[in-house]
Amino acid sequence: MTGENFVADKIRGIGASGIRKIFDLAATMKNPIDLSMGQPDFKVPDPIKRAAIDAIERDKNGYTVTQGLPALRERIKRHLSERHDWSPDVFVTCGVSGGLILALYAILNPGDEVIVADPYFVSYKHLINLAGGRPVVVDTHPDFKLNRDAFAKAITSKTKAILINSPSNPTGMVYGADEIEGISELAREHDLLIISDEIYESLSYDGPPATPIRFAPERTLLLAGYGKSYAVTGWRMGYAAGPEAVIREMAKVQQFTFVCAPQPAQIACITAMDTDISHLVGDYRAKRDLAVGALEGAFQFSKPSGGFYVYCEAPHGYPSGTAFVEEAIKNNVLVVPGSAFSDRDTHFRISYAVPNERLEAGCKILSELARRARVASTS
Ligand code: PMP
Repeated sequence: MTGENFVADKIRGIGASGIRKIFDLAATMKNPIDLSMGQPDFKVPDPIKRAAIDAIERDKNGYTVTQGLPALRERIKRHLSERHDWSPDVFVTCGVSGGLILALYAILNPGDEVIVADPYFVSYKHLINLAGGRPVVVDTHPDFKLNRDAFAKAITSKTKAILINSPSNPTGMVYGADEIEGISELAREHDLLIISDEIYESLSYDGPPATPIRFAPERTLLLAGYGKSYAVTGWRMGYAAGPEAVIREMAKVQQFTFVCAPQPAQIACITAMDTDISHLVGDYRAKRDLAVGALEGAFQFSKPSGGFYVYCEAPHGYPSGTAFVEEAIKNNVLVVPGSAFSDRDTHFRISYAVPNERLEAGCKILSELARRARVASTS
């Protein structure tokens, strides 16, 4: 007996697509050049590590209040006030994933719609469905811009929220102020909440990213995180900030699910917010430039401005993004097919959060595959 009969249909439907095949293939690789990871490769700055160790040694290991330690919440409030002149309610979550789950459970009635841009972060559609809502996808190919008219067309009487993510995973796009302003106006006109996933906010290489906090602060729910900025993805730390009633109801859901974020990590994240990471951001900007330089000419892509991803079109000659990823795996390079992030299977995602030699070696192999495909298609 395998227990298959116990599994709910809504869960069985998740992740049964091509991505499983890729993971199976990847499991057979020996010492691959892994450009698939969604986490930074730098070491956690020492003062942040020390703060966590120290907290554990001082026996700060129990529950905290659901909303998070007052000292951390005050630090987050100060950050938002200094950065955006914004004074929302704030609340500490278990990663941005935790914030997303709580937010969707807190706002969605059965059948309510949430609009997302395609390409989207892998979990968005699934979490909306699990919370009883319906994801509505707006295709942003080929330039990945947030086109106000396309979003306007997707709005119905059931629309509750628009979920945006800038800098974006998987495209690395940082949306312009005009795009964010357009979405904010739509939200005002149709009384929608904007959920703004800004987990890569500090990893922005061409200036600070635009945010709906500037254009519609009263209806923005900010979800931010520590994992990517300080390389503490395993600590499961994030925060939510926004309208009082939404934060209040999210806290209720957290009380009965996650209970609270881990106490030692909460304490260390206060130190993290006082730690300068500009040199690390500089290193990542250099990696972005290295990746862009190595892939230019071989692949079609929009130059990324944030995060640590490049989202490339599969070269001509490959029927799908997945087909190209299978070929890349055969050549010892692991990348993620666009079908994980999109209703289309035309692209693949490279993560440049790896040591420079690995990045160079991986991009060289991928570019060579593209060159061979070009030669084959012209001969
Ligand atoms: N949103 C985006 C856009 C992400 O890329 C990720 C992590 N890859 C998350 C949310 C989840 O972040 P966390 O690890 O803080 O739950």
